Amino acid sequence: MASAAVSWFGDEMNAVPLRNNKTSAAAVRSVTVLGATGSIGDSTMDLLRAAPGRYTVEALTANGNVEALAKLAREFGARFAAVADASKLSALREALAGTGIETGAGEGAIIEAAQRPADWVMAAVSGAAGLKPALAAADRGASIALANKECLVCAGDFFMQRAAKAGACILPADSEHNALFQALASGNRDELVRVIITASGGPFRTWKAADIEKATLAQALKHPNWSMGQKITIDSASMMNKGLEVIEASYLFALSPDEIDVLVHPQSIVHGMVEFSDYSVMAQLGTPDMRTPIAHCLGWPDRIKGRAAPLDLAKIGQLTFEAPDYVRFPGLKLAYDALRAGNGATTVYNAANEIAVAAFIGEKIRFGAIAQLVEATLNGWIRAGNLAPLTGADDAIAVDHDARKMAMTLLPQIALKAS
Ligand code: NAD
Ligand code: MG
Repeated sequence: MASAAVSWFGDEMNAVPLRNNKTSAAAVRSVTVLGATGSIGDSTMDLLRAAPGRYTVEALTANGNVEALAKLAREFGARFAAVADASKLSALREALAGTGIETGAGEGAIIEAAQRPADWVMAAVSGAAGLKPALAAADRGASIALANKECLVCAGDFFMQRAAKAGACILPADSEHNALFQALASGNRDELVRVIITASGGPFRTWKAADIEKATLAQALKHPNWSMGQKITIDSASMMNKGLEVIEASYLFALSPDEIDVLVHPQSIVHGMVEFSDYSVMAQLGTPDMRTPIAHCLGWPDRIKGRAAPLDLAKIGQLTFEAPDYVRFPGLKLAYDALRAGNGATTVYNAANEIAVAAFIGEKIRFGAIAQLVEATLNGWIRAGNLAPLTGADDAIAVDHDARKMAMTLLPQIALKAS
């Protein structure tokens, strides 16, 4: 369970600024985008493009897509461009020859990008690979728009504590958490009853368990409302994404599992709600477009002009809600179990899910086996007596590594069972 060490409202050990004191005005800000070529990266660059003169770009990074990275680095006049794939350094140098843009490659170069002196960093690498770069930005006290939920789930409380200690400001960029971030400002910690994060329910919301079990990759990639990267789209179909988000909410806002509810809302218009002691419920609404929460983080503590379509509720007509089904979507329940177990269990949950999603994309396991592998890995981990408090980043990375190994070992068994 998330410890109470990082609390909020009046406690300086809090990295999420839950009170808007409106200190900074519209000075030119330097920004770095980690994962600039992805879906969140794309939305971020779109907002930057629409506000010429307001932002300068310090660094941009990508995993291996040199062409797209170089194009963005040229367009935005970045000072530094880095690619995680070390074998692509010469290709990147060639693509940026004559521009004066510095280049780097390999994991160290992504960390260097995070360390460079940008005021604001978008953490949008996909998966636990984003942890070290996000920590590097936190350690120098940057403002970090955090999209990369896996890094938080992997490092748990530790990430938030380290960010708070360094004076970093964590701005929740995930749409549900950004909604909570905005709604939480309406009351105090001791007035909070619970937070509610919504879930679209994904493409299999109305499917029978037996059909979900054998869903194909193409079916899993057809998200009804959001256009996102491949991994998170599959996580949305399994509702593992909502599981990761329950854990993310717990760490970001120092909430216990009992204070976090999930509500299925197929239209994805209400993103998150906060219920206070007088039973007032504060919600944030908007069209399902990540450019709205990213714009909120980019403008913070002010507001900038958004790029999403304005919300037209009369046109939408109806907003509907239903309770989540933990039987057809067991991954969601496992997230609560992992959160309650604490002591690295959420790191294991995330690591096993990353292995399972990769195996599903590689057609080694069926869709239903994703949650089975996560459950088997969590159980195996606990049975082996491996639960222990995370002592730091290296520890979280070691648990992540060992849990991946355990998941890989269990994979053939699960693959057989599910075929
Ligand atoms: P994506 O796959 O579209 O993009 C990922 C980016 O990270 C790319 O630029 C890629 O080159 C880079 N990258 C991947 N592996 C890397 C590695 N090992 N080292 C360095 N860089 C690497 O993913 P996305 O949909 O943009 O999601 C990014 C993060 O934001 C994820 O953690 C996701 O859960 C979160 N998120 C996404 C959305 C969304 O709408 N897409 C919404 C909320 C949260
Ligand atoms: Mg989300």
